[in-house]
Amino acid sequence: MRKVAHYLRQAEFICSAPDLANCPPDIGAEVAFAGRSNAGKSSAINVLTGQPKLARISKTPGRTQQINFFQLTDQQRLVDLPGYGYAKVPDAVKRAWQANLQDYLENRSSLKGVVLLMDIRHPLQPFDLLMLEWAKQYEMPLHILLTKADKLKRGPANASLHGVSKTLDKIPDISIQLFSSLNQNGLDEAQKKIISWLE
Ligand code: GDP
Repeated sequence: MRKVAHYLRQAEFICSAPDLANCPPDIGAEVAFAGRSNAGKSSAINVLTGQPKLARISKTPGRTQQINFFQLTDQQRLVDLPGYGYAKVPDAVKRAWQANLQDYLENRSSLKGVVLLMDIRHPLQPFDLLMLEWAKQYEMPLHILLTKADKLKRGPANASLHGVSKTLDKIPDISIQLFSSLNQNGLDEAQKKIISWLE
């Protein structure tokens, strides 16, 4: 696993794009991270790359509504998609954002898989259901991290895992696991999945 961690540790911010047309060249392979605001996406990206400050870049003013790219090698990237949720943005802005995200997910050839993060205590919110719908529609491989698993005891955490798994039956190429950025539970499993998509 040390080799895998080393590989992801090379992540380096390259650019932000407001829409598909402004993304870096569509070559090689990339893995994108999606989730509602506060789902634990930044913390997960930091832990997965072993870089405690990496995802802070995506939260700087002007970048929160953008697609943020992190390069691993000249052929491999991680992508931080804009968080979605409680922020009070006008409906027109939300609609534009959703159209841009959909365009990216549907038409980005180098996108090999999406990591969808959901707080284990609040899974399957409307944004998550939309992502599941798109995954089905665009045959997009999806890996779900039920985040902040440390907040629940083992029994309730596993019950949540099984409960959410049951709703995923009809979606091809989908997987799910428990994850905690706090105690790094599930880190190896998540890294392996991401690497398998990138290679
Ligand atoms: P983002 O908005 O999805 O990028 O979420 P953040 O990574 O900023 O996390 C939102 C909040 O949840 C912060 O207060 C984090 O400290 C907390 N958090 C994130 N991951 C975990 C975790 O694995 N365990 C616990 N207990 N808290 C977490």
